[in-house]
Amino acid sequence: MHVPAARIVFSPEDRAEIASAATEILATGALTLGVHTAEFEAAFAAAHEAPFAVAVSSGTAALEIILRSHGVEGADVVVPTNTFAATAFAVLRAGAMPVFADVSSDTFALTARSVEAAVTPRTRAVVLVHIGGLIPPDVAELRAFCDDRGIALVEDAAHAHGSRHGDGHAGSFGIAGAFSFYPTKVITSGEGGMILTSDPAIHEAARIYRDQGKAGFLGNVHIKQGYAWRLSEIHAVTGRVHLRHLADFLATRAAVAARYDAALDTLGTVTRLQVPPDGLCNYYKYIVLPRPGIDRGRLKKELKERHGVSLSGEVYESPLHRQPVFGDYALRSLPVAEDICARHVCLPIHSDMTEAEADHVVASFAAALQSLSLDG
Ligand SMILES: *Cc1c(COP(=O)(O)O)cnc(C)c1O
Repeated sequence: MHVPAARIVFSPEDRAEIASAATEILATGALTLGVHTAEFEAAFAAAHEAPFAVAVSSGTAALEIILRSHGVEGADVVVPTNTFAATAFAVLRAGAMPVFADVSSDTFALTARSVEAAVTPRTRAVVLVHIGGLIPPDVAELRAFCDDRGIALVEDAAHAHGSRHGDGHAGSFGIAGAFSFYPTKVITSGEGGMILTSDPAIHEAARIYRDQGKAGFLGNVHIKQGYAWRLSEIHAVTGRVHLRHLADFLATRAAVAARYDAALDTLGTVTRLQVPPDGLCNYYKYIVLPRPGIDRGRLKKELKERHGVSLSGEVYESPLHRQPVFGDYALRSLPVAEDICARHVCLPIHSDMTEAEADHVVASFAAALQSLSLDG
């Protein structure tokens, strides 16, 4: 059996529906900022019980627009060091300085305490990243910490479509949330992004920013320094069709995760990210921490060559403060992130994974760990 690192799921019916919508879009010439974008926004907002949604060209654009809408130019913005480079690039492009913070090994996310060590008198915002789709159960503490200091909490929810904590959906815990529809994400539109917010001012500003800072679609009055951050209609309809399967995808992923949980807990040699009882994780990634000393490169090679199992990409392999491009911003060592980045692995998890595939993955994982331990 061969289990790939990722699988992108569009059924034959979905493909036919998207092809037919694309034909209509090309025939009418209504190629951007049309009805499909509006429908995608409405459906995405409804799925997350959010008042407002703005579709944009990427998750990176969504983050930059939120930061610009809040106004962070010349300020510091705290970001976790174990995130995708885009989180910190968006901060730089919005005219602010990224300040890297450490995270908790329980959630892979920022905490009030780890942020406290990174705030400066110039801090205007904190970007919380829901790593692997897990909304950290102590998110309220971080929000209170930010509120007390007049700092905005922004969610990088690129991993977290459909995730919840208690009654709250991803995108509802701060001033706004940024989602990505890059192909590997739980919902994809090919390329694309979405901003969710309950703040009418951010909603309005985001709509202006994404279309070259124009006061309206049809006019030519530019009131902000915007950019070409629009989503095309063909991308919008692709995302709209994929989004219909969100509940099904999450159910399949949760069932696979439950099988993984049960099998791994009997091993005793690994820890896994725990989802609290009142949390709902979309399992964008299934994250496991083998004990220190296991060589990740050898483990991945063994799994692929002997068992046909490709692990999914790490989140993340190397912390940003150790990446060459961010060398100038790396002020401190951040030991928890350094440890978990070096050590964790992500078991493959797909929105259409079968029980047989899941069982093959955990059996192979246990066998590979065993053989690496025997080799010393
Ligand atoms: C994918 C991702 C992004 C960027 O999304 P794009 O749509 O590729 O621009 C930002 N942050 C995180 C954490 C991501 O995983």
